[in-house]
Amino acid sequence: MKLTVLFLIAAGCLASTALYAETTVFINGNIYTGNMKAPHAEALASKDGRIIFVGSNADARKFQNGDARVIDLEGKTVVPGLTDSHCHIFGIGEREMNLNLEGANTLEDFLAKVKERVTKTERGKWITGRGWIETFWQPPQFPTRGDLDKIAPDNPVFLTRADGHAAIVNSAALKIASIDKNTANPFGGEILKDKQTGEPTGMLLDHAQELVAKNIPQPTDTEREEAFLLGVKREIDLGWCEIQNAGSELADVERIRHSFEAGKVKLRVYNAVYAPGPGATALLHDGMTLNGYEHRFTQRTLKVVFDGALGSRGAALLEPYADAPETSGYLTQKESELQPIFEEALRQGIQVETHAIGDRANRIILDLYERAMKSVPPEKRKIREPRWRVEHAQILSAQDLPRFAKLGVIASMQPSHAISDLFFAPSRLGKDRLAGAYAWQSLLKSGAIVAGGSDAPVERGEPMIEFYAAVARKSVKGFSADGWHPEQAVAREQALKMFTLGSAFAAFEEQEKGSIEVGKLADLTVLSKDIMKIPEPEILTTTCAMTVVGGEIVFERK
Ligand SMILES: [Zn+2]
Repeated sequence: MKLTVLFLIAAGCLASTALYAETTVFINGNIYTGNMKAPHAEALASKDGRIIFVGSNADARKFQNGDARVIDLEGKTVVPGLTDSHCHIFGIGEREMNLNLEGANTLEDFLAKVKERVTKTERGKWITGRGWIETFWQPPQFPTRGDLDKIAPDNPVFLTRADGHAAIVNSAALKIASIDKNTANPFGGEILKDKQTGEPTGMLLDHAQELVAKNIPQPTDTEREEAFLLGVKREIDLGWCEIQNAGSELADVERIRHSFEAGKVKLRVYNAVYAPGPGATALLHDGMTLNGYEHRFTQRTLKVVFDGALGSRGAALLEPYADAPETSGYLTQKESELQPIFEEALRQGIQVETHAIGDRANRIILDLYERAMKSVPPEKRKIREPRWRVEHAQILSAQDLPRFAKLGVIASMQPSHAISDLFFAPSRLGKDRLAGAYAWQSLLKSGAIVAGGSDAPVERGEPMIEFYAAVARKSVKGFSADGWHPEQAVAREQALKMFTLGSAFAAFEEQEKGSIEVGKLADLTVLSKDIMKIPEPEILTTTCAMTVVGGEIVFERK
């Protein structure tokens, strides 16, 4: 508690993003409270940012006096404010600002979008974009620099795959970065080369992307802040009340704080900084920020990226890829560098979250967590229960799955990955390994806490797609791959919990958020349909009618 007060003052939060003081009474709602003792209600009231009443329309009348604001929900469904426990807020904004290659369903489609951008761009200027996924194309093969050279001979081009773990570049970009057939792979990355000629194909995986990316002019402060604010707006309009930003560089932390100080942000942001790196050093040195800007900004987490992604075969597997036996992926950080950081984090009560997709990355990160916890026992920690997280926890071997519950490690998972990856994961992994892939139900049954997120802009980042994916475990068109373990789908109550109480727990916020109860922050997501009852496909046509953060209506669909 002392910590909280200290940081409230340190963050200077009292100057801006004021509490919403007005008494607001929401009536005629179909309210799912998430509170087991009273799971359903018709009405609620809020004041000074918090819930002061939950109950029936009749009992709500005593709050409807004086200048109280009354909102008639007209029977709409209300759930506790949804939290995206894993997304990349700047990337979401940038997707709107740059060339957005989402939905390019063929190679021709993809090239046409790039070509259109080339015609509008000055000769010699960089063209950057994101969002392509080749697994939907026929044949499902990576694009090549030759494809891009034909349409962009005079502009360097850098186009990030949707997952952010690979990029395709053209010859002009390779030339600027001085990459040729003799360039060696950097640690934790791969320059794909033609099997016959040995020349680079233009595909750069993980850390190899940086060889080219470092030559691209950096966005200005203003552009970067614009990206953040665009991202914030999109999230609020979709019904997210909080996002947990899965990693940021030091400069972006300043931009986030700056936007909050200017009173421009209503969304709650739980921010992680990349480790190792200057952001991590600063967090370990300066300590955490808790509940800054009227409970809207918390920073207490280090984010480590430990392997690549499955789509680009960078995820670190215990056995080789089924469709590329020459590789089993790679780790992107050295264990020896992480160990001292982890121990220091434990001593200081700093949370650690680690991206681990492959079963090898998951096993090793659990080993590292376990080792750190042994060498810094509870009495030597600032916070006894560290609530460390594994982000994605995508492919787990049977022996590692129970370790999450045992070690108190949270599985932070994104249901949409399962319904995007079902088109290629079976060929990458083979049938046997699918048993421990996207294993939400097994993790829940083992007693682990599962927090739900979207990983936007890797995925679309829409709460209804995530909720649908968790309960249906089928593509948005209703398709499920052979051997895709339908039993890993979750019940609607479990899915809702993943995006409310689960995410809140993963952020030490379950006393403040995650359910609609008196005393908690008044965060609500109001939906056009009853997602707890409608047929599964209808979940996808459900929209956010209203987003309420701290009792204030911050979005309303007109
Ligand atoms: Zn991510």
